[in-house]
Amino acid sequence: MCADRQDVDIAEVFRKVSRTGIGTSSGIIIDSKRVDMLAAEIVAARSVVMSSEAKSEQSEKNTTEMNVTKSATATPALPSSSTEITGIQIGAGQKAEFKSLDSHFENICECQKCPLGATRTKFVYGVGSPTADLMFVGEAPGKNEDEQGEPFVGRAGKLLDKILAAIDLTRSEIYIANILKCRPPDNRDPQSDEMEHCFPYLKEQIAIVKPKIIVSLGRISDQSLLQNKLALGKMRDQWHSYQGIPLRVTYHPAALLRNPNFKRGCWEDMQIIQAEYKRLSS
Ligand code: SF4
Repeated sequence: MCADRQDVDIAEVFRKVSRTGIGTSSGIIIDSKRVDMLAAEIVAARSVVMSSEAKSEQSEKNTTEMNVTKSATATPALPSSSTEITGIQIGAGQKAEFKSLDSHFENICECQKCPLGATRTKFVYGVGSPTADLMFVGEAPGKNEDEQGEPFVGRAGKLLDKILAAIDLTRSEIYIANILKCRPPDNRDPQSDEMEHCFPYLKEQIAIVKPKIIVSLGRISDQSLLQNKLALGKMRDQWHSYQGIPLRVTYHPAALLRNPNFKRGCWEDMQIIQAEYKRLSS
């Protein structure tokens, strides 16, 4: 099926839903007007992916904000002392070795433990509130991140901002970091030895920030945090635990740009995360 045909079909599905209204398996009631808006964004987002980098800049300005229903969802049961698929020790917690993110950054920003240190433009440490209750973890810096030294900038970053806005959050209220601090060449997947060297840095960031919830964005991040080799689809739709911290898995924003079919699932994930975030923060 060609990309354009797929866009039309996806949009049509959402329009049909908007006319009838349905309850999803997670109990979310789809609001008709907002589903129409989501359908429009699916078409727009797909066109962004199919455009050149220069065209996409212009295209993105016209992309409708991710703005779908904010209806309440039932909060799922969090893992108590164990979970079926996590490989990380549950409930153990971790004591931070550094007093602050600043001192940790100063200690590691010249790192050359793996070959990526030699090819990076900028070290991409993390951004956001050092006391955030919600921490997002991605895979590795891309081209824009490597140039700017900040995680989740560029098109995927802008989409993340829209996703956050849809659950009434901004970048400054959360903390964002990646598994790797340096960009893999040509945005290839991180290699296991690179993640092995770099993962302790993320562990320390988590120990310093002490988030109440971790949101893992994409397969690479999921597999690193949960220490397994499972596909993302097998890790979604349930709560996991990282060192006793509730962890939810969802799609990486770049994956949403490549495949708008994932957007609905991401939205359902984000509603569940929002509900739990509000509960834990109240
Ligand atoms: S990717 Fe991580 S381990 Fe490798 S050089 Fe960069 S900071 Fe060091």
